[in-house]
Amino acid sequence: MSAPLSASKLTITKTTNPKPKLPNDQLVFGATFTDHMLTIEWEDGIGWKTPEIKPYQNFSMDPATCVFHYAFELFEGLKAYKDKNGNVRMFRPDKNVERMNKSAERIALPTFDGEELIKLIGELLKLDHSFIPEGRGYSLYIRPTLIGTDVGLGVHFPKKALLYVITSPVGPYYSTGFKPVRLLATDFATRAWPGGVGNRKLGANYAPCIVPQIEAAKKGYQQNLWLFGEEKFITEVGTMNVFFVFKDAASGKKEIVTAPLDGTILEGVTRDSILDLCRERLDPAEWTVNERYFTIFEVEDKASKGELVEAFGSGTAAVVSPICEIGWRDNDIKVPVNEKTQIGDLTQQIATWIAELQYGEKDHEWSRVVV
Ligand SMILES: *Cc1c(COP(=O)(O)O)cnc(C)c1O
Repeated sequence: MSAPLSASKLTITKTTNPKPKLPNDQLVFGATFTDHMLTIEWEDGIGWKTPEIKPYQNFSMDPATCVFHYAFELFEGLKAYKDKNGNVRMFRPDKNVERMNKSAERIALPTFDGEELIKLIGELLKLDHSFIPEGRGYSLYIRPTLIGTDVGLGVHFPKKALLYVITSPVGPYYSTGFKPVRLLATDFATRAWPGGVGNRKLGANYAPCIVPQIEAAKKGYQQNLWLFGEEKFITEVGTMNVFFVFKDAASGKKEIVTAPLDGTILEGVTRDSILDLCRERLDPAEWTVNERYFTIFEVEDKASKGELVEAFGSGTAAVVSPICEIGWRDNDIKVPVNEKTQIGDLTQQIATWIAELQYGEKDHEWSRVVV
């Protein structure tokens, strides 16, 4: 019997060299890290070993370790928030550990009891809570990572693995208010495809997206709007899910729509939360909430008829990211934003709904007090 991951076995070694803390206005996403990290080794036949919290430090690994050659790597991204009573909260961490296990299964890395990992992350947050910046927009970004650590160049399932968690204090994604982005509708490169791994948070999915992003940047666009197939289905934007809002000119009915989870779409926690909140809170007499296929041609057509209302990306880092323009062939499709706020009205509403839950301003089962 292999040992399950168990938080009760945790050992803690505290740093003797605490880092200085940056003032809030100097925080850069993912650039600085807290004093401690969590590591847990796994070995085939033995199972999960002792979880350790120890000072943030380098790894020493054999150059033939399989993670360096065959991309046995996956990660998660979630945040801890300090509420106004000083409690530390996590937003739907059960969704992240569930997704992490699905990623692990896909590349033959070991799975684990997600609730045990959440407890261990809670212990890490307890130790490093003074690094969690306070205030709306501020949080501690948590990066769980799982790598294969087998040594050798044979391509086979890793008999050793390492799960680790590092954390980074972060500020608001848009420090000077929302800045809507210009997208390049991209059919010269494909992010994900049927039967592939686009629905899993594998490191291998991200490096190939940088060259297309550089191509977009050369043409003056910040992100790729990833299209798929002959039909030019809209899938995701950059490393976020994407939502469009349409309004039928004849009936006045509005629709919020995002691509269905068909294996090519990353199963975003923010995406799922937005769908749930919209289904629960938008008036069904006025709105429909849809996961369905839609194409750049549909968006182009609706824009030309004045039926495109707004569009935004969604993900943990920014929550929502408003879109103002989409470059598509020789046409620049204008996406409306509220002139004053530089964001669509529903996009703004959703951002507020989610922040209220993340910061514990409204009680909700999605927000868990961990420390
Ligand atoms: C992480 C990620 C998302 C967003 O997921 P969240 O759980 O909402 O942060 C969307 N698309 C891609 C490709 C991602 O990697």
